[in-house]
Amino acid sequence: MNIGFIGLGNMGGGMAANVLRAGHELTVHDLRRDAATPLLESGASWADTPAELAASCDIVLTSLPGPREVEAIALGEGGILEGMDEEHASGSVYIDLSTSSPTLIRSIAEDFAAKGVSVLDAPVSGGPVGARTGRLAVMVGGDHDVYERVKPALDAIGDKVSYIGPIGSGSIAKLMHNCIGYGLQTIVAECLTLGVKAGVDPEPLFEAISNGSVGRGSSFANTYPNTFLAGNFDPPSFALRLAHKDVSLALELAREYGVPMSVGNIAHQELTSALNRGWADLDSRVAMKLQEERAGNIEVRIAKPDADALEA
Ligand code: NAD
Repeated sequence: MNIGFIGLGNMGGGMAANVLRAGHELTVHDLRRDAATPLLESGASWADTPAELAASCDIVLTSLPGPREVEAIALGEGGILEGMDEEHASGSVYIDLSTSSPTLIRSIAEDFAAKGVSVLDAPVSGGPVGARTGRLAVMVGGDHDVYERVKPALDAIGDKVSYIGPIGSGSIAKLMHNCIGYGLQTIVAECLTLGVKAGVDPEPLFEAISNGSVGRGSSFANTYPNTFLAGNFDPPSFALRLAHKDVSLALELAREYGVPMSVGNIAHQELTSALNRGWADLDSRVAMKLQEERAGNIEVRIAKPDADALEA
């Protein structure tokens, strides 16, 4: 396949190199021509503009900073759509690997469809090391048949390529992934600073948390699928009244040592509200139902996963 790659930064540089390594013809473009040097030395071709690149490629990939750049490169003057001439366009696919706006990619997909070009959003997770080594999750939104057709190209980029749903779904999944990550980062900072200020050395504190269920990542592998996501809160695996006691004790410690706990206090209020619903003896994850209600009675349930697969 003739593949074009625009945006050869921390992520794009590694992903483009893997596309080339997988044996595809590769044409590249970036604002910074020097970013392309290693790829050109390995056999890739250079295009002066996104339009020029698009004119010679079956699949065009972009890995750009955000929505502003994606819109300009896709729809702007000298951009990808302009380069897709009528004869060549039909059957071509534009895939945006950037973390960008679901609303924007849905609108881009409509503009491209008018010329017979399919669009997928396929943001990635795994960082620059994953981009270089091919250990990336690729979250794909768009038409399923198009996804199947271009999957070999995406397999060159990541080891966990998955179809999420219609156009925009990949971006939504990626944004939710990162928002969870940065929410967790905030509470981790609160609890590590409190733990150290209260007298524990950073290394054993970090090791203790790493060895516990939080550090082992069992929430996603096991706990949520078997409680919240299954709508299963009785019998409790860890009762709400016990979780409330633990977070209350942590906040008492924070007051004693003068450490602000913004997210910790929000978590405490969630657990208190859940207690006030009469849920003390249900599983502590029942508190997650409060947000389902506030979001407009959005129910989040998944089919019961395979027990072996969930073993943390
Ligand atoms: P980066 O800034 O390193 O790379 C962006 C590249 O795009 C640069 O080489 C830049 O010159 C080029 N570029 C910018 N505007 C351009 C334009 N108008 N025309 C042509 N080239 C242009 O960023 P990155 O870290 O590689 O991230 C790329 C995307 O991947 C972002 O959407 C980011 O959110 C996402 N992402 C990053 C990471 C990470 O850990 N760095 C992980 C997952 C996803």
